[in-house]
Amino acid sequence: MLTSLAQAVYLGAAILFILSLAGLSKQETARRGNLAGMVGMALALAATVALALERSERPVEVTAVLILVVFLVGSTVGTWQARRVEMTQMPELIAILHSFVGLAAVLVGYNSFLTEPADPAHLVEVFLGVLIGAVTFTGSIVAFLKLSTRISSAPLMLPGRNWLNLGMVVVSGGLMVWFLGTGAVLPLLLMTVVALLLGWHLVASIGGGDMPVVVSMLNSYSGWAAAAAGFMLSNDLLIVTGALVGSSGAILSYLMCTAMNRSFISVILGGYGAEGGTVVASDVDLGEFHEIKAPEAAELLTEARTVIITPGYGMAVAKAQYPVAELVAKLRARGIEVRFGVHPVAGRLPGHMNVLLAEARVPYDIVLEMDEINGDLAETDVVLVIGANDTVNPAALDDPSSPIAGMPVLEVWKAARVIVFKRSMATGYAGVQNPLFFRDNTSMLFGDAKDQVEHIMLAL
Ligand code: NDP
Repeated sequence: MLTSLAQAVYLGAAILFILSLAGLSKQETARRGNLAGMVGMALALAATVALALERSERPVEVTAVLILVVFLVGSTVGTWQARRVEMTQMPELIAILHSFVGLAAVLVGYNSFLTEPADPAHLVEVFLGVLIGAVTFTGSIVAFLKLSTRISSAPLMLPGRNWLNLGMVVVSGGLMVWFLGTGAVLPLLLMTVVALLLGWHLVASIGGGDMPVVVSMLNSYSGWAAAAAGFMLSNDLLIVTGALVGSSGAILSYLMCTAMNRSFISVILGGYGAEGGTVVASDVDLGEFHEIKAPEAAELLTEARTVIITPGYGMAVAKAQYPVAELVAKLRARGIEVRFGVHPVAGRLPGHMNVLLAEARVPYDIVLEMDEINGDLAETDVVLVIGANDTVNPAALDDPSSPIAGMPVLEVWKAARVIVFKRSMATGYAGVQNPLFFRDNTSMLFGDAKDQVEHIMLAL
């Protein structure tokens, strides 16, 4: 009775998860999507706990206390982290959460190996679950370290790195044959070590510019790791949820690759076939740059008929979205046409800029994607580049030796005037200098983006 009730609740939760994903695909419905996800998760947890209590081999009170303790630890850490995290640290948080999913799959795998009868199908589940889990675990830790700048985001270029990856996959295949033939723990342990190294190496080999794809790819891996855990635990909802996360992460990775003009296969194989690219040294002479102050920028804006704002990671760091939204309202009230151009990988996570602009209540209809706005830049009077760098770098189109060569960018330099808001001449995430800053129609407005936008408003 309880089992069939739990299955019905699982089905309801699975539908809510699908509705959640559908809702999250549009800003207008994202809040509803989140709500559906939360209700689905609460139902799933309740049904899982009820089942665990019913099937408990220990006294039911002991199981209840154990569940309560882990529940309290998990929810305390989760709530504390979620409240503390800054919007700019979101990608790191996501990366470290993916590593937990990977680790969970490894632990579930070992637990299931030690406690369940060793029939061949079960051994395959255990082996694949531990393999995917271990790759996800170390891969996500490296992604976390890179995104939080605890280690350099430059690609680790070991000699013969593609052969190394291939070698590790082949060795894992051999260990699987050994494991299925004997059911011994040694090949499982050896494969775990190889898979941990493989995850580390795959992500360490990927350069800063390709990190967005890595984050969504690890998202996908964590889904498959959860699905594998679902098979081992015979939990249908975990299989469904894992498959949803796994496939939506894979679709997102594919879309990000298309947006960045990268080969999907090459990125998931740890930058397979990619040459390191030469980082333009900051002392290469790109000419002179021109500086501008806030009052002059305000003057240029009042004279403009059309303005496009291209935000980037610096807007998130400065929390400049609120004054930017006010500035936009002010300019629009004066009859100036103002729109936003959002690059697919601006910021540090997919949709980062859209979230910030929605938070500051910028109307959705003036927030356009790169492809929608690139054609209009040539007819624009003033472009405000607020804390963006790599996503507006003309070298991506002009310089085949650049690490970001081939990535489509917002072609802001085609506008009559460009004002770049940043604090220094430092490079962006990919570590390459930006020739845009040295163009004749570009002026640099140095300082914190929030302060500078506020100064412009005062001048207005
Ligand atoms: P970038 O990271 O290229 O550049 C951000 C710029 O903001 C910096 O040059 C910095 O210059 C400036 N900045 C930082 N703080 C402030 C501040 N307080 N006020 C004003 N300016 C500031 O940004 P983009 O958004 O253009 O590009 C995103 C990059 O991140 C791409 O390379 C992308 O591949 C990568 N990435 C994207 C992910 C995603 O999913 N979207 C995930 C991981 C990586 P200065 O220090 O001089 O102020």
